[in-house]
Amino acid sequence: MRALFFLFISFSVWGEQPTLLRADLNTEFDNGYHEDRFNRVIDFIYSHYAPIIESRGGALIIKKDWNDGAVNAFAEREGDEYRLEILGGLSRYSLISEDAFITLICHELGHLLGGYPKGGTISVEAQSDYYSTAKCVRRLFPHWSEWRNPEVSSPGPQDISFAETKCKISFPDEGYETCVRSMNASWKISQLWGKLDRNKRPSYLKPDSTRVRVTQASHPSAQCRLDTYVAGALCPVDYKVDFSYENEKVGACGKWFQEAFQRPLCWYKTLKK
Ligand SMILES: [Zn+2]
Repeated sequence: MRALFFLFISFSVWGEQPTLLRADLNTEFDNGYHEDRFNRVIDFIYSHYAPIIESRGGALIIKKDWNDGAVNAFAEREGDEYRLEILGGLSRYSLISEDAFITLICHELGHLLGGYPKGGTISVEAQSDYYSTAKCVRRLFPHWSEWRNPEVSSPGPQDISFAETKCKISFPDEGYETCVRSMNASWKISQLWGKLDRNKRPSYLKPDSTRVRVTQASHPSAQCRLDTYVAGALCPVDYKVDFSYENEKVGACGKWFQEAFQRPLCWYKTLKK
């Protein structure tokens, strides 16, 4: 089955047209990120994920377009072909850091590899978010240092001490630094989503209290997405234990282990047992 997923299309409940962000080169939203870094990040991710997809009998194909200023990326699965398309605007948007860029690509990989809940072979939106911080960035960040160039720095969360405290509890030994980096990146991404979600400003400290009756396959609210990234970042299950496509428990937090970091209930309905 062919399925194409867009990263940043936000349909409001009022049926408005989707809002699309752009970061065209040399415009006010261009943070000065370099094409060379864009290419290196994508090559780096390819080198880690091509063998993983190959071990599943598939082939990873990444198409990139530095000059396209749309803040967007796409994931598509057709048979054994696992395809990503990554546009330059995604890497240089003013609110985004390099760690955030990697985390966004991890969301796309989450569509292709993120397990249950899914539609066909493709994991749903928020599960792809959960996958990105619970699995993907933990695999990648330790091998990639953020480019600490003040010219491309973006504002970080004021309440980063919340992230540091929580990460220390979940990862008292190995994994602490990656956890803080992914919490930081998640916050930056959530501010971008907030722009698409009626300019709301998601916060670590105000989780979405909505409770869904059925699992939501489409993009949840910006706050709910941040909650999901945070739950993934803090869930202490080993990143090498993949999520299952059949069993919600495998690789995940839930009633069975560290319930606080389960898939947030603002989009997820736990299966009745
Ligand atoms: Zn998506």
